[in-house]
Amino acid sequence: MLQGRKILNHETFSEWPIEDLDVVSACPVCSSAEGVLQHEGVADWSFNTAPGHWHYWRCTVCETLYLNPRPTPQSIGRAYASYYTHSGQGTHSMFQSWRQRWKNERLSERFDRNIEPRLNLPRLFRSSIAKRAQRIALPFGWQELADLPPGRLMDVGCGSGATLSLALQLGWKAEGLEMDPEAVRAAQAAGLSVGDGGYERLSQSPSSFDCVHCSHVIEHVFDPRDLLRVVFAALKPGGTLILATPNALSDVHLHFGRYWRGLEAPRHLMIFSESTLSGLLMEQGFVVDSRCDQQLETIRESARIANGNKRIRSQDRAQARQLRQSLDRTPHGQDFIKLVAHKP
Ligand SMILES: [Zn+2]
Repeated sequence: MLQGRKILNHETFSEWPIEDLDVVSACPVCSSAEGVLQHEGVADWSFNTAPGHWHYWRCTVCETLYLNPRPTPQSIGRAYASYYTHSGQGTHSMFQSWRQRWKNERLSERFDRNIEPRLNLPRLFRSSIAKRAQRIALPFGWQELADLPPGRLMDVGCGSGATLSLALQLGWKAEGLEMDPEAVRAAQAAGLSVGDGGYERLSQSPSSFDCVHCSHVIEHVFDPRDLLRVVFAALKPGGTLILATPNALSDVHLHFGRYWRGLEAPRHLMIFSESTLSGLLMEQGFVVDSRCDQQLETIRESARIANGNKRIRSQDRAQARQLRQSLDRTPHGQDFIKLVAHKP
């Protein structure tokens, strides 16, 4: 196991007030009391903003990792005071703007659709772009959105709207919901249809959507069954759910332990195994079609946290490269669970 982590000089976490904590007396997924303490003293090493030192317990029955004690629903907002969905789409430098156009050029080639703003390079360059387009690392769900017949899409927890922007260009009638008011403002300023609020607002729209995109949301909610119930009801029959979340059984987690980027205390309340999450989906009536692409997305960030660095440094990159090679030699648990499910 990892030892000798540097203490960051900005690592001055005060404690979360005790009156704003709830004790979780049984596994929040399967209600088993057979939990064991897995990680102690985890802090907000991702954004260095939320106070507190946190413990993750592992349910020995269903393998769910759960935060215990955890912030009360009334106090959890404090953990989101400086969160990454705040950054808008509209503040690009010249370089970022060029990078975005270059990326869209490759996306246009990949999806055989016009994704703007792009560079509109002459035909001469097309074959070289086509090769690069196949190698582009897409956020999970984008290929599915390109492959499905477009209809009405809801992106729950849409941030400042990158997936919505793409979906619109792929022909979807795309809307989003977002809890973070600054991200909502950024998305609306970019002309996107984004409402302020959580998944609960979907209960006002039964059988309305052909697709619900729900990426890195379920680990944040207090009642994952309720989220899946509401999403199921909001989908039209035949509709598709695209869902991503960290994987409790990830090899990067097993390697880095409490420094794994997927923990993100205290915002991640529960982290599932793929079989447990599939079970929750099936309970609601979904038909699950698993998509594991064996990527190790959080490997550099986990190395950064374990090494006590404020930003990713060459040391972290080298460690991540080495570890990736060793993990790639064996079949392993991917870092994120990525599921596509259908409402029959
Ligand atoms: Zn359990």
